[in-house]
Amino acid sequence: MRTWASSAAYVIAAALVLARAIVIRESRAAWILIAVGLALYCVGNLLWTLWLENVESAPIPSLADAFWLSLYPASYAGVVLLARRGGSRSPAGVWLDGIVAGLGMAALGAAIVVRPVLESASGSTLAVATNLAYPVADLILAGLVVGMLAVRGWRLDARWASLGAAFLVLCVADILYLLQVTSGANEASLLPNLIYMSAVGLLALAAWQPVRDAAPDRLDGWSMLLVPGAFALAAVGLMIHDHFERLDPLGLALAVLTILAALVRTALSFRDLRTLAQTRHEATTDELTSLPNRRLFLRTVDETIAKARATQDPVALLIIDLDQFKELNDALGHHAGDELLRQLGPRLGETVRSTDLLARLGGDEFGLLLAAPAGRDAALKAASRVREALRQPFEIQGLHLHVAASIGIALFPLDADDADRLVQHADAAMYRAKARGTAWEVYSPEFDEHSRDALELASELSDAISGDQLELHFQPIADVRERRIVGIEALVRWNHPTRGLLPPSAFIPAAEQSGLMRNLTRWIIDSALECARTWHDQGHDLRLSVNVSAPDLLDVEFPNEVAAALAEHGVAPASLVLEVTETSIMSDRVRVSDVLRRLDDVGVGISLDDFGTGYSSLLHLKTLPVSELKIDRGFVAGMATSATDWEIVRATIQLAHNLGLSAVAEGVEDEATWQALCALGCEMIQGYFLARPLPPGDLHAFLAARPLAVEREIEPYTNLLNSSL
Ligand code: C2E
Ligand code: CA
Ligand code: CA
Repeated sequence: MRTWASSAAYVIAAALVLARAIVIRESRAAWILIAVGLALYCVGNLLWTLWLENVESAPIPSLADAFWLSLYPASYAGVVLLARRGGSRSPAGVWLDGIVAGLGMAALGAAIVVRPVLESASGSTLAVATNLAYPVADLILAGLVVGMLAVRGWRLDARWASLGAAFLVLCVADILYLLQVTSGANEASLLPNLIYMSAVGLLALAAWQPVRDAAPDRLDGWSMLLVPGAFALAAVGLMIHDHFERLDPLGLALAVLTILAALVRTALSFRDLRTLAQTRHEATTDELTSLPNRRLFLRTVDETIAKARATQDPVALLIIDLDQFKELNDALGHHAGDELLRQLGPRLGETVRSTDLLARLGGDEFGLLLAAPAGRDAALKAASRVREALRQPFEIQGLHLHVAASIGIALFPLDADDADRLVQHADAAMYRAKARGTAWEVYSPEFDEHSRDALELASELSDAISGDQLELHFQPIADVRERRIVGIEALVRWNHPTRGLLPPSAFIPAAEQSGLMRNLTRWIIDSALECARTWHDQGHDLRLSVNVSAPDLLDVEFPNEVAAALAEHGVAPASLVLEVTETSIMSDRVRVSDVLRRLDDVGVGISLDDFGTGYSSLLHLKTLPVSELKIDRGFVAGMATSATDWEIVRATIQLAHNLGLSAVAEGVEDEATWQALCALGCEMIQGYFLARPLPPGDLHAFLAARPLAVEREIEPYTNLLNSSL
């Protein structure tokens, strides 16, 4: 009756665990393993009760032992699977924690159990070993559960509590049974049997406990070192004990193994901790430049402001953004861009004090937080140090590249009273510097208005194009040697109803961004050709130059539109020059090349505007149907005073001639520059010295005042200077 009852209990427990594995998906594999272990255990029990118990001197180990002992590997694997569920820790650590705890407990258990068992043992070594295998395996399992608990940060939920209890109870039962057997009792008594039943009952109970996943695994050092530490200490205690009273060799061996495993575990923990520290470092460092990253920067700004608020110190924040970085990337490839940033990190780093914080905020944007107290003066000094650092060219892919940056400055508490706003305002100042082409700007509240204005303008622009608020001004272009007007550049203005006459810089960027540029260019080409028709009718043989933007050059319909407009106004294609910037042809080289070639087929000239400010490659230039280079006014204006600028202009003119192109210098403001350009062999000039951009009426007067024939001595047209922009 008694043995049948216990067999029935095992069957029911195995069935319960299996049912759970079938019904609930979560950790199914783990519970199937445990159910299989229990089922085999049950088979062992049936074998024993039905057969071996009644056999005279049943062998030890018997077939039943094989089945019983199967419970352990199955449970061991099941417990490990349970612990690994959702855990992010390295499985090696989980296993080792279990091994250390298991060995430690086994060592303790061996010290307590093995000696008395051995002392009273009668029978073969194999029989004793078999009997001993149970409590030792139990201890390992219980130890494993303890290990798992440590891994879980000692979060003891119902599942792990019942699981641990089940194995401990099983251990108690096995020890009791063993003591009974070794003390000569032939037949197991009622007590161990009851305890066995409650152990499997607890297992079934554990299977059906709901899981609660609270906080993720704790990864701090102490809990990771706790388990190996505690058990290693226990093992050391055993070895000291052995010194006074000899332990069983098994217990001693287990103690030594525990210490070894604990050492390995500690090494692993150490590695995990180091990885963690490294991950934390990486999380705050920018890979490319090895500078702190945005996260760390923003956090530090926060902390600095919190402190400054208490001490009333001023804080200065700079945002540094490279100019034309995108163009550089497009022209030379991302490797070149990365290489530039890599070189830039240390270069900028040298300009800051060790107490300042320089960080890469992303892309080509850097942040510089000056150690408090730092006010406006300190910020301006830092900005000029940064500019100074960028003076030397960067050597990238064998090229010497000059890189400029725009810097925005914002101050606490003057410009902002919290970190977010401080960064935002430094950003606004940086954009302002970019828009105005200045080296740096200090934040001012009107910047916000400015960006609001830009949005408003964009929304009004489309009405302006269809209404008649836009007008064209015209700036003459002269032949350098003959001092004769040979061309006119059309420059757009917006006669805004409330804001007055707006320069193109106030609305062209907005038009490009809001998708209005195509419409705007259509209007400009149409109106400019209409004027050109008039000049031609009056007998002036002038080329018309019109600026076009990237969106125009990306539109495959654009060449057809140009051809149609020329035909409509009866202007010869050779009389029209389209000015494109290096930046706009780099936006999508393949598509733009195609459009440029088709424009060339139409017969219009192509001029490369603002030459020298972008990053177009010479090789690329050679393959494009360009007819002239227009040297940027930045170099021209400086050539009389700066040797570098003079050299750049000289080299550009030479380059143009080598490529079979003509050179046009814009921004000529005085006679000296004119003479210098003449000496360098530049073909054409444009600039305030000759004339400012003129409204159509003034242009008419300007042209009428000079005979069409050769004008050897053009006087600067000063009386018109004041009437235009
Ligand atoms: P840009 O094509 O380089 O045009 C020359 C600019 O230099 C004009 O400014 C002109 O007024 C100015 N300039 C001419 N001579 C001198 C001089 O001697 N000294 C100085 N300091 N400046 C001089 P503007 O009219 O304000 O145009 C600025 C830019 O706006 C143009 O630069 C061009 O990129 C763009 N833009 C102007 N009109 C149009 C247009 O119709 N379509 C497009 N897509 N862009 C335009
Ligand atoms: Ca131009
Ligand atoms: Ca230009």
